[in-house]
Amino acid sequence: MSYYLSFQYSAIQKTVLRHDRLWSIAGISQILSYMNEIEMRKITEDHGGTVIIAGGGKYTARFDSEENAEKAKKEIIELISTRLPMLEFQISSVVQANSFKEAGEKKLGENPYPGIIHELNEKKRCFRGYGVTFNPHFAVCEECEEYPAEKGLYGPENKRLCRICYDAREARKISIQNPKDENNLTSMEEIYKNYVKPLSIRGLHIPSLMNEMFPKDGEKEEIGRIAVWMSDMNRMNDMISLWLRQEEKEILSTFDSLKRLFIDAISETLKSVFPEDSIVKRDGEFFIPFRLIVAGGDDLCIVMPDKYILDFVKAYSSEIKKRTDEQKLKEYHFALTRAWLEEEAEKAKKEAEKENKPVKKEYHYSGISFGGSFIVTSIHAPFTRIHALGEELMSEAKKVTERKGNSVNWRVLSTDEESSSDEILRAEKPLFVEESLHGKTLSFNKYMELCDEYGTMSGSRVHQIVNKIIEFHQDPEKLKTWLLTLPEASNTGSPVQRMLLDENLKDQDGRLNIPRLVTLFELISLKKRSE
Ligand SMILES: [Zn+2]
Repeated sequence: MSYYLSFQYSAIQKTVLRHDRLWSIAGISQILSYMNEIEMRKITEDHGGTVIIAGGGKYTARFDSEENAEKAKKEIIELISTRLPMLEFQISSVVQANSFKEAGEKKLGENPYPGIIHELNEKKRCFRGYGVTFNPHFAVCEECEEYPAEKGLYGPENKRLCRICYDAREARKISIQNPKDENNLTSMEEIYKNYVKPLSIRGLHIPSLMNEMFPKDGEKEEIGRIAVWMSDMNRMNDMISLWLRQEEKEILSTFDSLKRLFIDAISETLKSVFPEDSIVKRDGEFFIPFRLIVAGGDDLCIVMPDKYILDFVKAYSSEIKKRTDEQKLKEYHFALTRAWLEEEAEKAKKEAEKENKPVKKEYHYSGISFGGSFIVTSIHAPFTRIHALGEELMSEAKKVTERKGNSVNWRVLSTDEESSSDEILRAEKPLFVEESLHGKTLSFNKYMELCDEYGTMSGSRVHQIVNKIIEFHQDPEKLKTWLLTLPEASNTGSPVQRMLLDENLKDQDGRLNIPRLVTLFELISLKKRSE
């Protein structure tokens, strides 16, 4: 007889986003990953247990005795409540069963969701705040103004810090070129390690503040705009419920394989998008031009200067696609293949029918893919707001594409100087990165080709055309008439002339496809930043 214990928290959540500074967000995220991927594993092993899942905010382990399982549970709760008292998490009771599958069915018996996981979702959230109210004897942390400052803990400018802010500041300093312990790296540390390996510049820093992603030479600091990318895997929960039906050792290797796949794909993407000459020089020091905020399980959140974002989307999609081909997936784990998922889903469906349980799930899989979004904004935009908008755009991308492939959605937020055309104009998005959406949209990659084709158009011309689209209330005929009056419209091969003839830019009735032009011009403007 075995004893099972499960735990979960959501990867990006209030805990990570409680404070807008980059070092705090990235530092707390690193602390979370370290607890989840390394420390919980160790606690489990110290009590003779076996880890089944540890990563991406999830943890499940098996123990030989109830006593050991309870001890481990107590230590995990202690670890979290001392390290990150504000973390909202759910921990299951210790469940006695012959197998994990049985532990799953035992509690609530709802297929295909194992009960032990179901219990977590139902469970009241444990919130462990200090409940610090106004107390004149306490000095409050000068960074978060939430927890009491502790003696001897200082930040820059001698600010007094609480334990959490202090730890986050320490954890932000991921030592990328000589990691402390090669065998105990979090996913994030491993990705940094892979990224810096081929670089010849030594002493690289990871940005702790948004402006550290931009060059600086004495008084001269060239601060541009940033892009924040967010993505996660489509239909992850549906797949997890099928993976958990396997034998225990296969469950562990499925999750390890998936983690490996993501680490490989992200590392290769970063190597191709940020080569050695993109390293940022700041007063003689060298910084990598991006910061990973979350990289664990299937979640990815990364910040970079906006000029890299389009290449990033294209490269990340291609690296994922390369690895999720049915043949290639077999090198990772058979349970990641579409064939296995469909077969297993069919079995689960039959079992449910046999037991007269409601079958409401869709049992068709298009393979592993992500839903993603990016936001372009100033370095001063509050991160909580960026994150909320990113989530909204991402779920729209997933919904519109029915989670059938890598998808992307985005928003370029306006600055004081320029107004955002996005709120006024209808554009063609979200998009699939690789394919057309039911033949109705172009793919993101097709847009990239068109950007190259029409990118020679001057920035002021692009701006002028967009203003005309607004002025004409998106009327295609009026725009066409106006475009024909431009001097270059009669120049053979000029971008404007080619645009008027391009089938890709027309709708079914042969008129100019205005939402498509709006999207193209938005992307061309973004692309011009990298030139
Ligand atoms: Zn604090």
